[in-house]
Amino acid sequence: MGMILDGKAIAGEIRDKAKAYMDKLLGQGIQLKLVVILVGEDPASTTYVRNKERLALEVGMASEVMRLPEETTQEGLLAAVDKLNSDETVDGILVQLPLPKHIDEKTVIERISPEKDVDGFHPVSVGRNFSGVPGAVWPCTPAGIMEMLRIKDISVEGKHAVVVGRSNIVGKPMAMLLLKSNATVTMCHSRTPDLAAVTRQADILVVAVGRAQMITAKHVKPGAVVIDVGMNRVDGKLTGDVDFDAVEPIASAITPVPGGVGRLTVATLMINTVTLGATRRGVAELIGI
Ligand code: NDP
Repeated sequence: MGMILDGKAIAGEIRDKAKAYMDKLLGQGIQLKLVVILVGEDPASTTYVRNKERLALEVGMASEVMRLPEETTQEGLLAAVDKLNSDETVDGILVQLPLPKHIDEKTVIERISPEKDVDGFHPVSVGRNFSGVPGAVWPCTPAGIMEMLRIKDISVEGKHAVVVGRSNIVGKPMAMLLLKSNATVTMCHSRTPDLAAVTRQADILVVAVGRAQMITAKHVKPGAVVIDVGMNRVDGKLTGDVDFDAVEPIASAITPVPGGVGRLTVATLMINTVTLGATRRGVAELIGI
């Protein structure tokens, strides 16, 4: 029977850490502000944005959601980003993805000041992270997973970690973070032949594909730690990429969906905002980060 990695409880610990940082800053009269831009009314995005705003307020951060209509032009959105870039009171800027089809996501992400790039998606942030140059934060989902492993005392060093999925948002930064923590890392994707043969070698298996229940017992080595990033809606129900009922009995630890990785992502956004805000304001040392 695998230990269930309770995303809610672990996210609570990450949130408390962010709140402790904020308390210190507020004690010095320093308020941080996160601005989330939401274009259109995609229901999933609307929920994510609401959760982000709620948590920001919970940790004592100022938070603003800029709701722009679906028909906002790319120029209009870029102008909004420019304004936030030059607003000294704004510490973090997050453009909720996906954007409407007529807007190029890459162009918008590149417009965000790297110093305020709380998602860590800007090419400058990616470059800093990959080359070990300070000044950037890692994308929230993989960063949150690393924090969960740390909190749960799951050691990474020397382990064989297999990451399924190679997106810029999850798979690639996840693999780099595991590598940085001295795992031996293998990445799998849609062109990997015999996926099960590779994933069965994993001591730590992270799955970020977006295909409901694709990972079953035959993909998992007994005793492996299984982290399910997938979020799929099946018949109106949220389900992961891992067949939880089949895999839980053989894993040593496993994240459920819902109640797993999703919670960590939002909590980590708070840490990322504090990290960038405190750095930009020259007070990182004050709060010990
Ligand atoms: P993408 O669609 O950007 O990437 C999916 C990856 O899966 C690609 O690299 C693709 O390979 C790979 N893939 C597709 N089919 C297979 C297959 N049959 N075997 C192996 N690999 C395959 O997705 P994201 O990384 O953005 O998201 C992945 C999942 O995680 C989604 O369900 C998403 O909703 C969820 N998610 C959850 C978050 C959370 O907070 N919990 C945050 C972000 C995402 P290739 O590159 O070859 O096409």
